[in-house]
Amino acid sequence: MTNDFEKVFDTAAEPQDYTGEDGLLYCGSCRTPKEAYFPADKAALFGRDRHPAECDCQRAKRLEREAAEQRRKHLDTVEDLKRRGFTDSKMREWTFANDNGKCPQMGMAHSYVERWEQMKEGNHGLLLWGKVGTGKSYFAGCIANALMEQEIPVRMTNFALILNDLAASFEGRNEYIDRLCRYPLLIIDDFGMERGTEYGLEQVYNVIDSRYRSGKPLIVTTNHTPDMLENPQDTAHARIYDRLIEMCSPVCFTAKNFRKEAAKAKLDRLKELLK
Ligand SMILES: [Zn+2]
Repeated sequence: MTNDFEKVFDTAAEPQDYTGEDGLLYCGSCRTPKEAYFPADKAALFGRDRHPAECDCQRAKRLEREAAEQRRKHLDTVEDLKRRGFTDSKMREWTFANDNGKCPQMGMAHSYVERWEQMKEGNHGLLLWGKVGTGKSYFAGCIANALMEQEIPVRMTNFALILNDLAASFEGRNEYIDRLCRYPLLIIDDFGMERGTEYGLEQVYNVIDSRYRSGKPLIVTTNHTPDMLENPQDTAHARIYDRLIEMCSPVCFTAKNFRKEAAKAKLDRLKELLK
């Protein structure tokens, strides 16, 4: 026991270390002390006058180790959030860094992330609408990736998957919907209810309404126009759309169809090759 206690106070000396003018052990590399004196009252308590201390190079090494550990922990957290947050691993590629700069609305995605605290505070959702292939999902994916990289949980999914999950849910539908509503940001991609069954519409309403009551923001991408949402075909659709319009501000995507453009570029390359 005494030996263990002694060890705590023993300072490991390297061959190049030396004793300074104050009688303390000094590091031979950085020439700062590896020991410190106890205050006089404590010295009597411990039966000795000094205890080990970090010299400058030991401190620098420790800080470096701690920073590396911090970075590793951060990367692990982000990895875990993305694994849980995305339904498809290709969504991980939808980042500001990978953006081709062709989507004129992208500045708004940057602002949404930069002002996330205000977006959350004011429960500001977005309804990203426009034709297929105009970059709506990419826009939403950029927000999701950027927030998750700040360790903010985001869930990006769609109603086809939600309805599947609800049908196969062992934990109970309410628990599943509660879990969706716990995410600070929920993104529902590719919203479109034209072929909805009565059961499906009921579940969609449950999810949208629960999210509404959670007071947390929702981002939806859809090929519907706000005009279509404001003039629903029946009351089942009407109550879903009413909630959506209340929660989400419309953003119109008018850009050229990127997928068509990419396909045309590919065709042009092929024509060139076949000349
Ligand atoms: Zn040192």
